[in-house]
Amino acid sequence: MSYNHYKKLYLLEKYKNNFSGGSYNILDKLNDTIQSNYIHNYQFEIINPEFDRDDIFYGPFIAPVIKDYIKHQTFSSILVDNTKFYTTTPLNDNIFKELVRRTLTLNKILNITKQVQVFYIDSPFEKILPDYGPIKTINVNSGVSTNYYSVVYRKEEAPKVLVHELLHQYEVDCNSACNVYEHNFNLKDNQKHKKKLLINESLVESLATIINCMFMNKDYKKLIEDEKQFILYQSAKILNYYGYKNYDDQHIIVSDTSLFEYYLFKAVILNNLDEFIDFLNKNNPVNILKFDRTKNKQLYNKIISFINQNFKNKINNLLKLNNFDKTMRMTKNIM
Ligand SMILES: [Zn+2]
Repeated sequence: MSYNHYKKLYLLEKYKNNFSGGSYNILDKLNDTIQSNYIHNYQFEIINPEFDRDDIFYGPFIAPVIKDYIKHQTFSSILVDNTKFYTTTPLNDNIFKELVRRTLTLNKILNITKQVQVFYIDSPFEKILPDYGPIKTINVNSGVSTNYYSVVYRKEEAPKVLVHELLHQYEVDCNSACNVYEHNFNLKDNQKHKKKLLINESLVESLATIINCMFMNKDYKKLIEDEKQFILYQSAKILNYYGYKNYDDQHIIVSDTSLFEYYLFKAVILNNLDEFIDFLNKNNPVNILKFDRTKNKQLYNKIISFINQNFKNKINNLLKLNNFDKTMRMTKNIM
C-alpha cells in the first residue's frame, strides 16, 4: 500500500494540528524570518566552471553509478554575491533557481560571510528500496558536503536535500565528531561491525524538513504533520524490509549508510516536535539554528527518551500493513 493510499484510508480523520506547546511561537518566528527574508530575484555573473572534480566528487557517499554519471556532465557556473553555483541544468531551470534562492535566503538569515559553493547535478536516479541485500547509499543518499561546499546529486527531493547539505556547510549541525558508541540497536556496517550513530544527521535532516516546509510558503504546520506521518511510514517500511513484525524484534540491520538517523530517529523527533524544539530553544534561545555543540550527548539522550511505548505502538500499527511501496524518499512535499 502506498503512503497516499494509507493516508486516505487511515489518516484523514486524525489530520489536525498537533502543535500545542511553546514550539508554536518559536517555529512561527522562524517561518516569519524565512518569509520576510526570502530572496525572489537575484543578479548573477556567469563565471568559468572550474573546479577539481576528483576532489569534490570523491568519497564513499556518492554511489559508483552516480559518480560515473557525473563524469559525463558539463557544468555551468554563476556567481551571486559571494556564492558560487555550479549546475548541470540550464540556468533558467526551475529547481536550480529555487536552489539559488534558498541558498541566498539562508545566507542572509544566518549571516553567512564565508565563501559558499553549491553543486547541483540533476541526475534522474530515484531512491528505491533494493529487491534484496543491505540498503545502501544508492538507495538513500542524495548529497554530500564539507564546510566549503555542498553537492546535491539527484533531482529527486533536491530543494530539501540542499537545505540539509547547507546546514552541514554552515556548521549548524552538532559536529561530525558526535558519534555515540553505546546504543542498543542492532546496526551493523557492511563488514558486520557495530555501527556508530551519527546523531547530527537526525538533527540536520529534521531541521531541513521543517525549513523545507516553510520555504513552500503554504500552511507549514499542516505540511510538517504530513512529513511526520510519512516518515513513520518510511521507518516501518525499513523495519519491515529487515524482517521486523514488531518494534521490539531483534533483527540485525546491515547498511553502509545512516538509515536509522535519517528515517527512524527523524520520525522520533517529528513525533515529539514540541519537546524537541523546546530542547533546542533552551540550549540556544537566540536561534534554534545555532546548535550548541557541547550538548551532543544531551541531544542523543533526548531523542532516545522519545522512543516510548506510544512511539512503538505507532510503528507497530504500521508494521501490520506489511506491503509497502518502494520509494526511499525522506520527504513527501518538496516545492
Ligand atoms: Zn547529512
